[in-house]
Amino acid sequence: RAKADGRGCHCLFSDEMGVALRRRRRIELGLDQAVRSPDQLTVFYQPLVGPDGHTIRTAEALVRWTLRDGTSVGPGEFIPIAEETGLIWPLGEWVMRRVFAQANRWPQVVIAINLSPVQLRRSSLISLIEALVLEYDVQPARIEFEVTEGVLLENHAVIQDNLDALRAMGFRIALDDFGTGYSSLSYLRKFAFHKVKIDQSFVRGIGVSSESEEIVRAIVSIGRALGLRLVAEGVETREQFEFLRGIQCDEFQGYLFAHPMPHHAFWEHLHGPLDSGRPAPPLWPQDE
Ligand code: C2E
Ligand code: MG
Ligand code: MG
Ligand code: MG
Repeated sequence: RAKADGRGCHCLFSDEMGVALRRRRRIELGLDQAVRSPDQLTVFYQPLVGPDGHTIRTAEALVRWTLRDGTSVGPGEFIPIAEETGLIWPLGEWVMRRVFAQANRWPQVVIAINLSPVQLRRSSLISLIEALVLEYDVQPARIEFEVTEGVLLENHAVIQDNLDALRAMGFRIALDDFGTGYSSLSYLRKFAFHKVKIDQSFVRGIGVSSESEEIVRAIVSIGRALGLRLVAEGVETREQFEFLRGIQCDEFQGYLFAHPMPHHAFWEHLHGPLDSGRPAPPLWPQDE
């Protein structure tokens, strides 16, 4: 029987596991609450810039969760839990509603929304998105959905149909975190993506590992041959930026340019400070 009796214990539940399990349970319960009354949730926006280092044509929507006690949990931790518990469905709908409501204020930028494989596996995803498009009067061409490679491995008919339907509606589709999964180049041909986002683990290796640099070069040249836009994520240094620009990446995302920020800060980022005689921002919805 499992018994946690102190240090060096090789039993089923060590103290650390107990702590991890309790944290997980707290996140599950907290998240369940948060999606019911989402005042704890917010969406941040991170600009993607062009080769000049400042022109913004795209911004990625990234969900943020701050609990009542003021602590926050990152999406890297709670999204997988939301996926396992099914909470990703209401959470994903909330994110889409929030982004659709805000996207019309920035007609000059495309907003990228992350879609979980769990969302993509449901055929009702399309009817939900169709309804939201009408409700918020959003032009699909202004929205890009980011999907990860993992999705493609499953070879699921529903996933393929959903991606086709989204494309037919006029949404753009980007392949996120490219290079981390087992998928590969054949998928780039099979699915007509608009963009490929090179994972930050490769970008981090620029200037450090010639292997990473070669992988980045290879992804870019193949992507280019297939007519895709190439995006580098996690660009933190000038050196990485120069390398990526040198091999003709199209868009750059990372702390070197901007961190993810609340929507009002993003508005200022686009238009300049509020007190500088620029046009006033539109009224934010009451619930923000
Ligand atoms: P992702 O889609 O690959 O998003 C990029 C992540 O890299 C974000 O982390 C962003 O804050 C971070 N990042 C951007 N620039 C830099 C940089 O220069 N250096 C470093 N170290 N990191 C950088 P974040 O916001 O913590 O999100 C983590 C992941 O959670 C996302 O990875 C995405 O997979 C998932 N996620 C976030 N929001 C949503 C959402 O609304 N729905 C779904 N399904 N997943 C989401
Ligand atoms: Mg993403
Ligand atoms: Mg990414
Ligand atoms: Mg990533």
